[in-house]
Parts: sequence; C-alpha cells; structure tokens
Amino acid sequence: MLGAIEAGGTKFVCAIGDEKGNIVERVQFPTTVPEETMVKVIEFFRQYSLDAIGIGSFGPIDVNQESPTYGYITTTPKAGWRNYPFVQTLKDAFDIPIGFTTDVNGAALGEVTLGAAKGLDSCLYITVGTGIGAGAIVRGQILEGLSHPEMGHILVRRHPNDHYQGKCPYHHDCLEGLAAGPAIEERWGDKGINLVNRAEVWDIEGYYLAQALMQYILILSPKKIILGGGVMKQRQVFTAIYKYLPELIQNYLSLPDLTEYIVSPGLADDAGITGALILAHQAFEEKN
Ligand code: ADP
Ligand code: ZN
Repeated sequence: MLGAIEAGGTKFVCAIGDEKGNIVERVQFPTTVPEETMVKVIEFFRQYSLDAIGIGSFGPIDVNQESPTYGYITTTPKAGWRNYPFVQTLKDAFDIPIGFTTDVNGAALGEVTLGAAKGLDSCLYITVGTGIGAGAIVRGQILEGLSHPEMGHILVRRHPNDHYQGKCPYHHDCLEGLAAGPAIEERWGDKGINLVNRAEVWDIEGYYLAQALMQYILILSPKKIILGGGVMKQRQVFTAIYKYLPELIQNYLSLPDLTEYIVSPGLADDAGITGALILAHQAFEEKN
C-alpha cells in the first residue's frame, strides 16, 4: 500500500492507493503550520501499513539528494514552512522509502503515466492558479538539475495594452507576476470567476501564456503540454493560446494540431495526487 501527499499552500491532500492510480482513501487538511498540519498527516498515515510515501510539494524545495538540506521546503514566505525538513519529519515517523518532488513535477508524472500524456515519454505540466509553475518529464524522468525548474518566473513581452505593474514580489512582471490568478484579480479588480464575459481578460492571459509555451517548446520540446489550475478552467484561455502561439512561432517549427498538443489534464484535479502515488511506487522500487 502506498501513501501520497499533494502539499499545497492552502491544503494538504493525503491519499492511500496504488501505482495504478487507484485511491482507496483520501483526506485533506488546511495548510496552517507544520506542528499542526504534519501531525494530522502522520496520524492519518499511521492507520495504514505503508510501503512508501510520495510527496509533491509546493516550493521552493530542495530536491538535490547530495544536499544537506535535501527534502526541505526552503525559501517559502509561508509562515512556519521556511527551511522545514519535510522528508525527515516523515522519515522519523515512518521508516520507509519517500519520494519527494515539486507539486507540478508530481502532476507531470501522473499525467505521463496515466493521464493526457499516457504512452509518451515526455510532457510538460503547467498550473496556472495562485502561482504559475511547471514540471516536466523528459525521457520518462522527472526533470531536475541544479534544483527543480521554476518556469513560472520567465520573462515575457508585455501586451501593448497592459499597464499593470505585475504581482511577483521578486520580478514584478515575470509570467507569474502578469498571468497568475492574483495578477488577473489585481489588474481587473475582480476574481477571475467574475470576469468570464470580459473577452480582453482572457485574450491577454492567452497572449502571455502563448509566449511562455513558445519558450518551453523551443527549449524542452515536450511531446504533450498539459495546462491545469483554476485559471485554465476558462476554456477561452486555450482558444487565445491556439490563436497566439502560431503567430509567435510562425512556421519555424511544425507542431501537432494544437488542440491535441495543448490540453487539459487527463486526470482532472487528481493529476498531483496520482503522481505522488506513482512517485511513492518509484521510491519503493528503488529501495527494493
Ligand atoms: P492553487 O493554485 O492555490 O492550487 P487554483 O489552481 O484553484 O489553486 O488557483 C486559484 C486561482 O485561480 C485564484 O486566483 C482564482 O481566482 C483562480 N480561479 C479559480 N477558478 C477559476 C475559474 N473558474 N475561472 C477563473 N479563474 C479561476
Ligand atoms: Zn517572478
């Protein structure tokens, strides 16, 4: 039996299941402070006899196995979680293999194994929600290097009609600063869900995301691109991306039919937790 954690900035989803994506039990806890949230997580997992646990976590996190702070959540502004030894805390409670990666890498792993990119050996998973983050699978492996990718913070060209200053505390008008949910809300003065009929909102959103996708495609050449997160519930954003991306790329690359290449998650809202189960399975296999 495998345990999975999708650790988000607002909630932790924990599940019990198998590497086929079958989930037999699922709970969620609000993300408050580790002394509270992690105690609940451990109590939940103690009810089972687990073989391994997989974690897809909000970040930044330390994924470098050689590093003394491997398994930590590192520079997050989230109170109590900064420099938090996430993996070690679980290791102390359960002496079993633990897989650890970012939330979006986890979702990419779920999608490439059982979702929209099933049967392929590469994909890119992007979430456009409270923040923008992306995870990638390359030749069947999660893409990590010096650290994990932080594709939400790339720079984009401004839309000529957009004078919003941007919301990223580090870069102001990086992609996340211009196109994540909170940026939409601040630029237009209302929540995305209340802006459904404002065509220009979603056109500008697609303008920025198309630029980002162009760069990800040029650098990583993923076989499938999956866009999840709250903002992507607006189908109009996909339509705008399908319009802007060919204008940007021109005929330089020949891409598949964009409506099949750039898609919603096949696992819907379960991409992350499913990926965490698969990660748990991989951790188990590595140790056995
Ligand atoms: P998180 O990123 O925190 O995991 P979400 O992916 O749901 O959570 O993203 C939340 C952001 O997405 C908020 O800024 C919210 O306003 C926006 N959002 C959520 N649902 C929708 C929707 N249906 N249409 C447009 N924006 C949405
Ligand atoms: Zn930024």
